[in-house]
Amino acid sequence: MKSLTRYLTFNTQKRIDFINITKDVEEAVKESGIKEGLCLINAMHITASVFINDAEDGLLKDFANWLESLAPSEPISRYNHNLTGEENGDSHLKRTVMGREVVVAITNGRLDFGPWEQIFYGEFDGQRRKRVLIKIIGE
Ligand code: ZN
Repeated sequence: MKSLTRYLTFNTQKRIDFINITKDVEEAVKESGIKEGLCLINAMHITASVFINDAEDGLLKDFANWLESLAPSEPISRYNHNLTGEENGDSHLKRTVMGREVVVAITNGRLDFGPWEQIFYGEFDGQRRKRVLIKIIGE
């Protein structure tokens, strides 16, 4: 069995942001030389997500608006978590809704996506350095 481990780093300008990381993952799969296997991609922080959906700008705005309606960033006093002195109670909730990781099958050396599937990094408490893990196994 072969494996490859890669880390992507992000430091977004905005507090909430979505970044299409599909090409980065495709490059890692190519580099691995693996033809049949599995590719795990996960956020390494509890206020960020990795998820799969359509690369359509309107939809990404819809995600941001929907998450803000579910877990408004303000007032900060709304969240028990913020009694610790943090201000990111909403970010933890948004991350949980959007998920920690995705797994994509590798078939014939390529990510075996369904129609329109793209991989996104979801940032919910940005403006600092964060990482995503890519782990590929197979042969
Ligand atoms: Zn926190």
